[in-house]
Amino acid sequence: MAEMEEKKNGNGSSASGRADLHLHTHHSDGIHSPYEIVRRARNAGLATISITDHDNVAAIDEAAAWGRQMGVEIVSGVELSVALGEKDVHLLAYFFDHTNLHLLDYLTFFRHERRKRAERIVEKLNKINVPLRMEAVLDQAGIGSVGRPHIASALVEEGLIETYHEAFLKYIGTGAPAYEKKYQLNPEEAVRLITGAGGLTFLAHPGKYTSEAELLRLINAGVDGIEVVHPSHSEAQQAHYRRVVDQYFLLESGGSDFHGGKKGDDDTIGTYTVPMFVVDQMRRRLFL
Ligand code: AMP
Ligand code: ZN
Ligand code: FE
Ligand code: FE
Repeated sequence: MAEMEEKKNGNGSSASGRADLHLHTHHSDGIHSPYEIVRRARNAGLATISITDHDNVAAIDEAAAWGRQMGVEIVSGVELSVALGEKDVHLLAYFFDHTNLHLLDYLTFFRHERRKRAERIVEKLNKINVPLRMEAVLDQAGIGSVGRPHIASALVEEGLIETYHEAFLKYIGTGAPAYEKKYQLNPEEAVRLITGAGGLTFLAHPGKYTSEAELLRLINAGVDGIEVVHPSHSEAQQAHYRRVVDQYFLLESGGSDFHGGKKGDDDTIGTYTVPMFVVDQMRRRLFL
């Protein structure tokens, strides 16, 4: 069967008529341009994608323009970080108005805070005799909102550490000597921000860190759904989160969290997808 030759996703289904709702571009810590992401999505046979850059919606208009030419639907998206106790939890937002001024003000503020935090991390590194220069970090970030992935890459580029992952273990991961917290909203504030712009909020990749109690706290905070399909989730975790979605009348989401190679995710566009009814359910929840 022709189907057998198509790429398989995390659910074992084919990529055609499907959506990848978690992708990053060079507007955050991804490598590729919006054009390149849309081109790869088209080649993978995806019908719909969402670019979910960290604290940045700059890719959306560009992607939408290419999407119209290439026949790929673009849903607005963004990935936010919120504080849950001591934890840094990621939320994904979809279908909001990405020109909403209140939201744009907040995103600008978050990116500014990210920049200041990167400077604090570099200072801490310098204090422990790791001579990383802020310019090397900014070279990695380019036009994107600066994050620890750029600092890790800069450490590798400058020959100050062997591998990307080692940078987190030794220096910048949670609890490591040069770790610095990011400015974060609490979950309720983030949900309000996205609701105010007409969108839906999802808990991203809960399998990475979220206990049952934390999951309930986030559901109470008003998240609309859970990211069920993600490269970090096993089949059993997918099944578990799908049951939670059903139990609390939530929506599901999913995608590849593709960054473009530097995190060992070189060719995952089209391999972690959700069927189109998942996107339709989101629209229906918003009466779109
Ligand atoms: P930031 O938003 O600047 O705090 O960066 C968070 C990102 O860094 C996450 O989305 C991961 O991609 C990456 N990251 C965090 N911790 C680790 C780790 N221990 N190993 C590798 N990557 C990590
Ligand atoms: Zn990222
Ligand atoms: Fe994330
Ligand atoms: Fe992500």
